[in-house]
Amino acid sequence: MSVDVLIPETTDAAVEAFGDGTDITVIAGGTIVMQLLNYRRITVSKAMLLNKAGLSYLRQSDSTWTVGAMTPLSDLLGMFSPLGACAANVADHEVQYQATIGGNLCAPTPPEHPSGDLQGPLIALGATVRSVGAGGERTDGVEEFLASRAGRLVLDISFETPQAGAFAALDRPHTRHFTALAVSGVKSGDTVRLAATGVGPVGVRLLSAEAAAGDPEAAGNAALADAVLRDDALASAWYRERTLPSLVARVLNEIKEAS
Ligand SMILES: Cc1cc2nc3c(=O)[nH]c(=O)nc-3n(C[C@H](O)[C@H](O)[C@H](O)COP(=O)(O)OP(=O)(O)OC[C@H]3O[C@@H](n4cnc5c(N)ncnc54)[C@H](O)[C@@H]3O)c2cc1C
Repeated sequence: MSVDVLIPETTDAAVEAFGDGTDITVIAGGTIVMQLLNYRRITVSKAMLLNKAGLSYLRQSDSTWTVGAMTPLSDLLGMFSPLGACAANVADHEVQYQATIGGNLCAPTPPEHPSGDLQGPLIALGATVRSVGAGGERTDGVEEFLASRAGRLVLDISFETPQAGAFAALDRPHTRHFTALAVSGVKSGDTVRLAATGVGPVGVRLLSAEAAAGDPEAAGNAALADAVLRDDALASAWYRERTLPSLVARVLNEIKEAS
């Protein structure tokens, strides 16, 4: 089957080529989508490569950051926690140089393991996502975007520098693995926002844990009410249930020390 390959050279051209997203597959860094193609888990009739579309940028204006969808995770490594620490936890340097923040946000959820680790810190940061598709341009909070991301082309993601932040993940003695479970936390003023990956099909805000944030141990236990835990190739629901409370408590203690 022949594939129509589009390589727009400006953002406007990418937006026009994407249209309402019908029958078009976006290829960013390709670290996920090329595997899906190679293993014939998806078929593509029209592919749009974003590497020349002018979407790789990291802009700061006072405390506001705007990150282009094609920005590689390697450009985020020096950023504040939980974002920088989460990017550093993804696979290895080779993948981090290729993988993009837009691809991570739009990562499909395979049955074998969680994916899209950056969704956690971006939810915790209260980030917003600017996208185009049917109905034109839209700016959504990350959770709203994740709930309606089909048929959208992400342009960029914005967030504020937090007062303090922390990231904790289950660690395994193996390189290049996906993350089984991770918790991100951000403090801004009196507000603490918590989010996790590996506790549902996409990143999840831990609202019950936030309500108990003053007591890290209680917050850890409360987080279980926000999670839909399941077994996959990386960890059992049983193991996640036992480790989620301690990751939440670790993040809250680190935020307390940092602020
Ligand atoms: C060995 C290995 C280890 C990995 N480990 C991890 C890990 O630990 N944690 C983790 O989170 N990920 C991991 N990944 C997955 C992957 O590298 C990251 O999720 C990466 O950020 C995806 O970005 P990409 O640019 O490569 O996406 P792509 O593969 O190009 O695209 C991924 C999906 O997003 C869509 N997409 C891409 N950009 C946009 C856009 N701007 N707008 C709309 N849709 C878009 C694509 O159509 C596709 O469906 C790993 C991958 C490999 C190969």
